Amino acid sequence: MITIQNYYGIVEDAVIHKLYNISKKLINKRVVHINSTYVGGGVAEMLSTFIPLMNDIGVDMEWRIQYGVPDFFAITKKFHNALQGDSISLSEIKRKVYLLSNERFSTFTRLPHDLIIIHDPQPLPLINYYVKKQPWIWRCHIDLSHPNKELWNYLKKFILKYDLVIVSHPNYIQKDLPINYKIINPAINPLSTKNMDLSSKEIESVLQKYNIPTDKKLITQISRFDKWKDPEGVIDLFKIVKQKCKECRLVLCGSMATDDPEGIEIYKRVQKKASSLIESGDIILITVENNYLVNALQRASSVIIQKSIKEGFGLTVTEALWKGKAVVASNVGGIPLQITDGVSGYLLDPYDIDGFADRIVHLLQNESTANKFGIAGKEHVRKNFLMTRLLLDYMNLMNDMF
Ligand code: UDP
Repeated sequence: MITIQNYYGIVEDAVIHKLYNISKKLINKRVVHINSTYVGGGVAEMLSTFIPLMNDIGVDMEWRIQYGVPDFFAITKKFHNALQGDSISLSEIKRKVYLLSNERFSTFTRLPHDLIIIHDPQPLPLINYYVKKQPWIWRCHIDLSHPNKELWNYLKKFILKYDLVIVSHPNYIQKDLPINYKIINPAINPLSTKNMDLSSKEIESVLQKYNIPTDKKLITQISRFDKWKDPEGVIDLFKIVKQKCKECRLVLCGSMATDDPEGIEIYKRVQKKASSLIESGDIILITVENNYLVNALQRASSVIIQKSIKEGFGLTVTEALWKGKAVVASNVGGIPLQITDGVSGYLLDPYDIDGFADRIVHLLQNESTANKFGIAGKEHVRKNFLMTRLLLDYMNLMNDMF
């Protein structure tokens, strides 16, 4: 099990000292996080590391996962999409399934904790089914810059019951919500199997196991098969790249999250669109959930793409930067917090596929630029987006709340 002690030498000593110093004020406080998936996507990725480390420092922190019928997840995925700007038909039946599922979960979930932290829209209405005896926080990881108004007005009545809303970017603050907001950027665990150092032999053997040849340069996007990650747009831009640079291959790696029912459908569309390039071995699609594989793929790639149309924060970008990789990404959501254009990667309009292709080709042909970006990107992550910073942000917050 990774502990705070393992962070010595990675982050500054002062950071570790601060963590221990503040922890004594939080002893005997019980905190619980509730979200709706244990795997796939950034929230599960973060909680799986964050919670054990909190317990290691001495904060009593638990993790509950909300379950529900497929209908519930189909509806909450629509809510997710609408919070990122899609239209939605907010029918009576959708509201009913949403509420009933939360009510049902509440009947077998006791919450005697001192602080309750609810992640994203799925468990948001849980607050309706408890007598509020402690502070409740809603932590929304989604890009809320232009939420669908009808849905927002519906969800607002739950959000207003909360004591605090945490988002990843100042642009996500909604002016019509008279509630305290806090901005907390997500973070990665540099020591997890997904991010730890791997030898070239280890990388080779993982790639071999998954039949990923390394005779050509790899260009990779790691992301759920989700329309906001635009995997179909990645295929389009790869076709342009391929005309200018034959010696490269595209890998799209996207495992399926248990709370994301649209993944399979989008995967099939991508498969169809890329069929001839898949056949020729120029595009490889992967749906396996494996942290070693993600780690090895990111490390083996010459360029990492993140062509999102919306992106709450984008941990895949953080992970790639930490591995010293050149990233070509959309200038949306939390991505520009991580990449400075022309310094630690390239940022583009998500619809500028020619621009994406040009930058990718440039990096494939100019290793020194790619390396320079990698060094700058890794240092930026070390200073701002490692798990110790996230722990400190939450501990300071809890200290203020108790
Ligand atoms: N991820 C993964 N396997 C995949 C696709 C994604 O392990 O096939 C992980 C990825 O490494 C990252 C998280 O899922 O840790 C995605 O987080 P991000 O913030 O980029 O996007 P989200 O999926 O939360 O929208």
